[in-house]
Amino acid sequence: MSQTAYAQPLASPAGRVPPPAEPGMALGEVDTPSLVVELGAVERNVARMAEATREAGVRLRPHAKTHKCGAIALAQMSAGAVGVCCQKVSEAAAMAAAGVTDVLVSNQIVGQRKIERLADLARTTSVGVCVDDARNVAALGAAAQAAGVELEVLVEIDVGARRCGVLPGAPAVALAEAVSATEGLRFGGLQAYQGSAQHLRTPDERSAAIENAITATGETVAKLQAAGFECRTVAGAGTGTFDLEAASGVYNELQAGSYVFMDADYARNLDAGGSPITTFEHSLFMYATVMSTPSEERVIIDAGLKSMSVDSGLPIVSDWPGLEYVSASDEHGNLAVGADARRPALGEKLMLIPGHCDPTVNLYDWLVAVRDGRVEALWPVDARGAVY
Ligand SMILES: *Cc1c(COP(=O)(O)O)cnc(C)c1O
Repeated sequence: MSQTAYAQPLASPAGRVPPPAEPGMALGEVDTPSLVVELGAVERNVARMAEATREAGVRLRPHAKTHKCGAIALAQMSAGAVGVCCQKVSEAAAMAAAGVTDVLVSNQIVGQRKIERLADLARTTSVGVCVDDARNVAALGAAAQAAGVELEVLVEIDVGARRCGVLPGAPAVALAEAVSATEGLRFGGLQAYQGSAQHLRTPDERSAAIENAITATGETVAKLQAAGFECRTVAGAGTGTFDLEAASGVYNELQAGSYVFMDADYARNLDAGGSPITTFEHSLFMYATVMSTPSEERVIIDAGLKSMSVDSGLPIVSDWPGLEYVSASDEHGNLAVGADARRPALGEKLMLIPGHCDPTVNLYDWLVAVRDGRVEALWPVDARGAVY
C-alpha cells in the first residue's frame, strides 16, 4: 500500500457491531454471547469500595483496565474516586474522551509514538505515569517540554511482584532525583503494586506478602524524605489486598479494579474462616445460549474462547449446581450435566461468571446493563482493543 493510502482517513470507518440488545428489552431477549452487567450489584460494589477507602482515610483511584467503560469510570468518580488508573495510553485517551479528568497510567510507557500521545493527552487531562528507568525519564521529559505540558511521575518500585519497578530504597531515590531534575516532569511519589499477592488464597499468605511490600515502601518513603522528596502519592493495591494497604499508614492511594465485577478467580480467595470472601458481588456475566444438546450428560453453548478469557480458569455457571463448563473451543462451550442436575433445554439461556474479568471485557464492544431482568442501558466498552 502506498504511503498516501495510509494517510487518507477511511471513507467509511468500520463501526462497532450493533449492540446485542435494546433498552427496555427483557433479559431473555438479549442476543448471545454477550456481557451482561447487573446494575444493582455494580452499584453496591462501587459504594462498598468507596466507603471502605473513605473510612480508612485513603484515596481511591480504581483501575479502569477492568471495565474499559467510561460510564463505570464516571460512576466510580461520582462515588468519590479521585480519577482512574489505566494501563495504556490509548486506554487513558478513551477514558478522557468519556469525561474522566484525571488519569494515572500505572505502567511504563516506552516508545516515541506512545510518549508523544501521552504528552498530547496531558494538554487536556491531568496525566500521571510510572517510570523505572532514567532513559525513559529523559524521553518523557523531552516530550512533555515539546508539548508544553507537565507530567506527574511516580517512581515504580518492585515490592515483590517481579514485574516492572526498580528496587526499593536507594535506586528509587536516584530515579526521583532524575525526575525532579527533568523539566516537564513533576515527581509525585511511588507506585508500589504487589500484583502477585492479589490471588493468594489465604489471608495469611496475602498479609505476609503485603507486609513485605509495606515495609519496603515505607523504608523507601523515608529515604526519599531524607533526600528532600515528599511523596504526595504512595499508590498500589488490588481487590485481593486493598484492606491491608488501606490500613498500612504507608499507602495513600488504592488502585483496585476487579472489585467492580468480581470474577470466578477472585471468588476463590478465602477469608480467615476458610470461606470465600463475599465483600463484593459478582456483577459481570457472560450470557450464552444452549445451541445443541447432543446427549443426556452434555450440552453445548455458543460461548467459547472468543467470548471469554480462560487464563484464570473456565467460567462458572451461575446458580446452577451440577452444570459445569468443562472445555472450550473457538465458538463452543462444552458443559457437563451432573447426575442430579437439571439439564438446560435447547435455546435456553445461561448466565456464567467469567474466570477473569479484565481480558474477557476486552473481547466485547458492548456491556448490556440490566436491572430487575430488564435492559436499562447499553454501555460501549470505550477502551476495547486499546492495547497500545
Ligand atoms: C491490575 C492492576 C490493579 C488492579 O488489580 P485488581 O486485582 O484488578 O483489583 C492495580 N494496580 C495495577 C498497577 C494493576 O496492574
